[in-house]
Amino acid sequence: MGKIKPQPLRGIPAVEKVLQALGPVDLPRPALVELVRRELAGLRRGDLIPAFEQVLDQIREQIAALLRSRIQPVINGTGVVIHTNLGRSPLGPAVVETLRQIASSYSNLEFDLQSGERGARASYLEHNLALLCGAEAATVVNNCAAALVLILQHFTAGQRKEVIISRGELVQIGGGFRIPEILEASGAQLREVGSTNKTWVADYRRAISKQTALILKVHRSNFFMGGFVASPGTEELATLAKQKRVPLIEDLGSGAVIETEKLAGLEHEPTPAEVLKRGVDLVCFSGDKLLGGPQAGLIAGRAKLVRALKNEPFFRALRCDKLILSALQTTVDLYLNGKAADGVPVLAMLRATSDELKARGTAILAALEGAAVTARLTEGRSQIGGGTLPRSAVASTVLSLKPRDLTVQEFAARLRRARPPIIGYIAQNSLHLDLRTIFPEQDQIVTRAIREAVGR
Ligand SMILES: *Cc1c(COP(=O)(O)O)cnc(C)c1O
Repeated sequence: MGKIKPQPLRGIPAVEKVLQALGPVDLPRPALVELVRRELAGLRRGDLIPAFEQVLDQIREQIAALLRSRIQPVINGTGVVIHTNLGRSPLGPAVVETLRQIASSYSNLEFDLQSGERGARASYLEHNLALLCGAEAATVVNNCAAALVLILQHFTAGQRKEVIISRGELVQIGGGFRIPEILEASGAQLREVGSTNKTWVADYRRAISKQTALILKVHRSNFFMGGFVASPGTEELATLAKQKRVPLIEDLGSGAVIETEKLAGLEHEPTPAEVLKRGVDLVCFSGDKLLGGPQAGLIAGRAKLVRALKNEPFFRALRCDKLILSALQTTVDLYLNGKAADGVPVLAMLRATSDELKARGTAILAALEGAAVTARLTEGRSQIGGGTLPRSAVASTVLSLKPRDLTVQEFAARLRRARPPIIGYIAQNSLHLDLRTIFPEQDQIVTRAIREAVGR
């Protein structure tokens, strides 16, 4: 801290002088000028004008903060595999290569190379996505929330406005996505049935009337209900829906298309194919949760219904761009080719064995030898995240770090300022980095950043 010198108002430096003194800054000039103006205006409101060097330091701090808010790669040491705040699913090399090619070139996005005329958008993707989901047809919008809104708007556009849903499924998923609010925003009327913990088929049957637009099932993806709970099986509900000629829609949320129970420590997550087989008319799920693709909302089910959704004028407002569609196309093909286990990073992370993680941890410990930090390996539990499989946690190897000369908070802050930033979590007065969500090729970067943060 320098001392503050009282100065008259005319002591406020000129913008141009500050810009010159700052030297080259990795910000667009208008953004930099705006920041400097704002800081100097702030000084004008105070009584004391700090010395020039101090003004510069303040401005440099603001510049650093602004630069840190730029979207950039980070290293995820949280152990949360699908971390919504950290961009959910990273994409694998095959998908990145597709993105590179499609992004930098023209493409046949809506052009039929056979006839030389306007073609259907993403027909190849829709075809293969339907295959992957064991569905008659499939399509894609921007995210699962958009898929749900589209479906609700379509089915409640006529006289029938009521959407029947169990009270046990009126959930909030992540920040601000509440099923009841999405329903109401779509113009649907909520018809709640059952109680928080128990809903029977009879509850649904009683609620069906001339006002019923559809029955909605929402996969309770981010919490688990134990104790005295009951909800009807999908088959039972599908039988009722067919009898009453009411569409049955299921929001699966995470939508794994592989058998999650085969991944160590995970419970079974319903797949779109099995839900459709049980008689659901349409399912929707996210592209960037357990599927491990780009952000998207996938819709699969009966061909007639998928076609009708695509004919909604509102569909146009929710459609994905060529980057998302091509990334998803490659992701779906990885699954169909049996290459998803290695080619989709979230699945590869979930498959990493204890031995592999421990070996990496041991190498990191050796590389930290002599650094001003107490480092050890502990048992941790990685979470799936993304509102997925709340009961499942995968045993993992965690690097537990206690800096010798810093508080653990300051240490964590320094790692967040590293390049690339490293995000961990604090527990038992140590900083923890879960190795499952750190790519093996990042281990050396992590080691170096730790050394630098503790002063070598
Ligand atoms: C995550 C989730 C959503 C929202 O999906 P987005 O793709 O983020 O829009 C909707 N429903 C359920 C059940 C979810 O788990």
